[in-house]
Amino acid sequence: MTDFVFTPPAIPSVPIAGGGRFPVRRIFCVGRNYAEHAREMGGDAEREPPFFFAKPADAIVVDGAPMPYPPLTRSLHHEVELVVAIGEGGREISHHEALRHVFGYAVGLDMTRRDLQAEAKKSGRPWDMAKGFDHSAPIGEIHRAERIGSPTSGAITLHVGAALRQQGDLSEMIWSVPEIIAQLSTSVSLQAGDIIFTGTPAGVGEVVPGDTLVGAISGVGVVSVTVGEAATGPSARR
Ligand code: MN
Repeated sequence: MTDFVFTPPAIPSVPIAGGGRFPVRRIFCVGRNYAEHAREMGGDAEREPPFFFAKPADAIVVDGAPMPYPPLTRSLHHEVELVVAIGEGGREISHHEALRHVFGYAVGLDMTRRDLQAEAKKSGRPWDMAKGFDHSAPIGEIHRAERIGSPTSGAITLHVGAALRQQGDLSEMIWSVPEIIAQLSTSVSLQAGDIIFTGTPAGVGEVVPGDTLVGAISGVGVVSVTVGEAATGPSARR
């Protein structure tokens, strides 16, 4: 028996290829980890290194589950990303030891309310409501590193319907996976269950209800999600 005043919510989790589920503790994201995407967002990767932000763990949308169009935006953007699933925690992890802490990899979508993000940037406010909204983190099956290795190159793409929107290569990442883990673990103690979205290549853009998004990384896997109708918003008001 515990003193909880209501039943604690279920732990968000992601299916693992071959069986089992990965319980998600926290979601960290890297911003501006591909130079060309930094440029398309009006930044300069030479002068401004990548950085971290976060989403709540329950923003996870597993492959094939519905992703309703979120409220308060007219500009929902896709960002396809390599996702790292941490299997063993640590702090101040050296970049040489970093891959030992990885359980596996997946393809994820860092969905973004771009108009809210632009407002936040302009006014110097946090990005939480632009990045950490409900259903903002679709993710495909996690593939064990012991099976697929640790990818350092490979095509990363995103299709909306038949149209190729994003195309890049993992080798273009400014911070590699070991560097990301080393950097992040100087800031927080990583623990098993933490996952890290590692940044997106160029070509981000808007999606609307009815669009089907398919993200893929060569040698890693896929994620597929369909944008649903808005739960609230102008079209739902009378
Ligand atoms: Mn991103």
